[in-house]
Amino acid sequence: MMGRTHMAIGFLAGLALFKLFDSNPLLFICLATLGSLLPDLDHEKSMINRLLPVTRWIPWLFRHRGFFHSIFPALIILFAGLIFSFQMIALPLAIGYLVHLFSDCLTRQGCNLLHPFSTFRIQGFLVTGGLVEFVILGIVLVLDVLILARFAGLV
Ligand SMILES: [Zn+2]
Repeated sequence: MMGRTHMAIGFLAGLALFKLFDSNPLLFICLATLGSLLPDLDHEKSMINRLLPVTRWIPWLFRHRGFFHSIFPALIILFAGLIFSFQMIALPLAIGYLVHLFSDCLTRQGCNLLHPFSTFRIQGFLVTGGLVEFVILGIVLVLDVLILARFAGLV
């Protein structure tokens, strides 16, 4: 999926879930959105690598949709958060990360969530950048705006 779709979905996940945790809503939503971009650190031309030039070496070491598209980096983020007591940062980052993986599972290229321990890929029917993805992006953006408007007391 495209970076903008991942961002919109990560933002939606942050909006939908921040109330479940005793955390700052703005921080939670921003971190979930950031987390939703992190798996694509393994892609040379991804939005996150365009935003953060310091991470551009990652695609040289990790192939696209390999380790960075498994659940393990999200688990590492969660464990690090527990060990070093920054759960309120780690949790939304991991949520955004996992939401990215599950949405990439809807694409034809799919995701191997247990890489490198398995070769099983979960694949869907979506073409990255295709019409259906734009429809999903439109629906998610409308939901983002409606939920924000509701929080702001406008709806
Ligand atoms: Zn991805």
